[in-house]
Amino acid sequence: MNYIYAFAEDQTLTNQELGGKGANLAEMTRLGLPVPAGFTITTAACRQYLASAKQETGFLEDELMKAVHILEEKTQRQLGNAEQPLLVSVRSGAPISMPGMMDTILNLGLNDQTVIGLAEMTNDPWFAYDCYRRLIQMFGDVVYGIDKPIFEAALTALKNKRQVQKDTDLTLVDLKQLIETYKGLYVAAGQYQFPQSVDQQLRLAIEAVFKSWQNPRAQTYRRLNQIDGAMGTAVNVQQMVFGNYQGQSGTGVAFTRNPATGEPGLFGEYLLNAQGEDVVAGIRTPEPIATLKAQLPVIYEQFKTIANQLEAHYRDMQDMEFTIEAGQLYVLQTRVGKRTAPAAFRIAVDLVDEGVIDRPTAISRLKPTMIDGLLHPLFETSAVQQATQLLTGLPASPGAATGAIYFDAQKAQQAHEAGEKVVLVRQETSPEDIDGMVISEAIVTSRGGMTSHAAVVARGMGCCCVVGCQQLQVDYEQREAHFAGRVLKEGAIISVDGHTGRLYLGALPQQTGVHETTLGTVLSWCDEIAPFAVWANAETPQEVATAFEFGAQGLGLVRTEHMFFGPERIFKMRQMILATELADRQVALAALKKLQITDFKQIFSLAEERPCTIRLLDPPLHEFLPQNEVEQAELATALGISLAEIKRRIADKAEVNPMLGHRGSRLAVTYPEIYQMQVLAIVESALAVQTTYHHAVTPKIMLPLIGTATEMAYLKQLLQQTINDYLVENQQQLTYQIGTMIEIPRACLVADQIAATADFFSFGTNDLTQMTYGFSRDDIGHFMPDYQQQGLMPAEPFQTLDQDGVGALMQLAVQKGRQTKPDLSIGVCGEVGGDPTAMPFYRDLGIDYVSCSPYRVPSARLAAAQSQL
Ligand code: ADP
Ligand code: MG
Ligand code: MG
Repeated sequence: MNYIYAFAEDQTLTNQELGGKGANLAEMTRLGLPVPAGFTITTAACRQYLASAKQETGFLEDELMKAVHILEEKTQRQLGNAEQPLLVSVRSGAPISMPGMMDTILNLGLNDQTVIGLAEMTNDPWFAYDCYRRLIQMFGDVVYGIDKPIFEAALTALKNKRQVQKDTDLTLVDLKQLIETYKGLYVAAGQYQFPQSVDQQLRLAIEAVFKSWQNPRAQTYRRLNQIDGAMGTAVNVQQMVFGNYQGQSGTGVAFTRNPATGEPGLFGEYLLNAQGEDVVAGIRTPEPIATLKAQLPVIYEQFKTIANQLEAHYRDMQDMEFTIEAGQLYVLQTRVGKRTAPAAFRIAVDLVDEGVIDRPTAISRLKPTMIDGLLHPLFETSAVQQATQLLTGLPASPGAATGAIYFDAQKAQQAHEAGEKVVLVRQETSPEDIDGMVISEAIVTSRGGMTSHAAVVARGMGCCCVVGCQQLQVDYEQREAHFAGRVLKEGAIISVDGHTGRLYLGALPQQTGVHETTLGTVLSWCDEIAPFAVWANAETPQEVATAFEFGAQGLGLVRTEHMFFGPERIFKMRQMILATELADRQVALAALKKLQITDFKQIFSLAEERPCTIRLLDPPLHEFLPQNEVEQAELATALGISLAEIKRRIADKAEVNPMLGHRGSRLAVTYPEIYQMQVLAIVESALAVQTTYHHAVTPKIMLPLIGTATEMAYLKQLLQQTINDYLVENQQQLTYQIGTMIEIPRACLVADQIAATADFFSFGTNDLTQMTYGFSRDDIGHFMPDYQQQGLMPAEPFQTLDQDGVGALMQLAVQKGRQTKPDLSIGVCGEVGGDPTAMPFYRDLGIDYVSCSPYRVPSARLAAAQSQL
């Protein structure tokens, strides 16, 4: 079995073996792009290495020597040769991109001899020694874990001593001295030596990259992104090209489209006279790519052509790394670029418009969870106008967030654990900060650009982020930050606007605003291919309006009891419930009916011709009654009876197990006048709206908690009679349906009998799950965490449909129901109606619609369409 392949040597290898970086380097080589030569050590080698007890690379030795030899032939240089030294980078590359999570070493192959060779070969000793000191620094960090700041401190000390600002102001003599200082740091850190043997350098570097697969920040990243920890990383060994060389040299990162907004056109940053690390690490603030057009127009055009070629080839937005060495352009990496949710939607639509991809491909690239990202919060405009602005940086990732400022990841985490909302404020972030970034409301940095570590990671997490705030100084020692002249201590509250890049003092109120996006376009494509419709559960006019704005095609659940909780309404309700005589109850019901008519008219007029499913009263009556004595006394006075009498009547209604008690349709068996009032309110409202707005209204009247065919038949007959009497008396006509929720397991088992009289079914998955498991929904919190910890319950069944159990009952009900009525309309309402993971199951079930809360409608439309791909 081979572990090592030269770039493009074997066409059949994929990301799984070569890692994403290696596979794309190979592909770019095949496309004839200017990629420095190199080879890839496969992920299998990494797995082999990590699995072996001693962790050694002996098994690679022969192949490695051969691969190096071939590279030497190709490049006309030799590893360790003092005249013509070959320098390489050793780069990690996992099958799934994990930007910056693992390690890379540049300039490998330099030692005390070869550095002289490089100096002579390039005629630039300063450059050669700069490379050497960079190697010693990176090698120490990656191989021996000698922290970067230790080297940085030595560098800063030297610059201070020489009274210079920039690295480039140091002299050759300074660099040589720095190299000796660095070597000393190895010894000080634990008796290490910087290896003069280049073979040893290479072996240790490869091992270090293998090991970096297991480092804590890589593990955290994998956990957050559900990446398989068993895959391992590939290692790429590649000839160095030098952006820190003299003449026209530099390095940069660019996207083929703007990763924050999706806007087409090259977007990126570069630094002249720098090695790649300098851009990514955010140590110097780079220039926007547009400047390159003015600075090096030929190279800019060349790069643009390559960028277009790569995007066309991969049919998606690319994130590329490039280096210019003495006027010669090289591409060092390309990958499908990470992007914000709004950018993802815009890019998907633009690529369809440009004919690059088709609609199903566009739909398949979007995630239902991204839609929350489109509904990112904004600060209220009026509050923003009055707020004290601290400063402005680059808007790296959208959102609006408020929190207490912390200057290191650990402190931020502690504060978060103590329940505080935090904003992580740093000069720059590095991959070590990942744990602190995850829990932050927002991330702010003073250095770095739109492609800095902070920006990339925040966009990936959908976290609000502002970078490159030039006027921000973080004083880690004093634990304070200087915001354009204002000093804020750790723990001070600021607000961060990721849309504009502005920072404000104190907390600003937020509003949720839907951005102008291409969401609507994508969702309309979704509706065309979705196997079922998406309706909404809504009852207030506000919710109903939102549901239709988000594209709901009907209302699957209007819960009438929610209409009885307003202050003046609850009193009528209580009066109705506590009435002992039918006549008293009728008086209260008449008042409630008026209120219901007001509500239903609003809903029907907003719904226009869309179906509206109205569920009749469902909860146990006890839920409406006052529990405290003050309210009870008020009620007693209002009803003109004694407090003792009120208490007695309330106690009368108490139940041991109310959710399995006197509720739902059972109420109507005892008090038919309640449902009779409700259906008349529905019918009168529907007729009124038809007359006023001239559109048809077809109410779907839904009975909750039906468990037997006799209940269904009895109530249907009763309500039909009530409605028909009214219609005849008033010489009116109306089409309506009377159906049922299917939420009791027994109803599923006898669905064929129930379907004989039910006009439609709608699965009430909350109760159905509760009764199928025998789990009280309200008490599940006491034991579900233990179940999950023991691995007994993979997902919370009220959030994620239990396809094996609850799903099997649903299948039975669909099959039996349609046995009786082949065209029976069937929907799913309840929490899991919007569960994206259940959509393929619903497709196979053959239902007509799912119904979920208004804010979940857009993501359900996307997920429904994806179930069909
Ligand atoms: P990461 O996965 O963290 O981006 P990379 O392997 O891409 O790590 O390396 C980091 C940087 O090092 C890159 O941005 C690139 O500019 C630079 N680099 C890597 N290999 C070479 C090379 N052969 N020549 C010049 N620069 C390189
Ligand atoms: Mg890279
Ligand atoms: Mg229910």
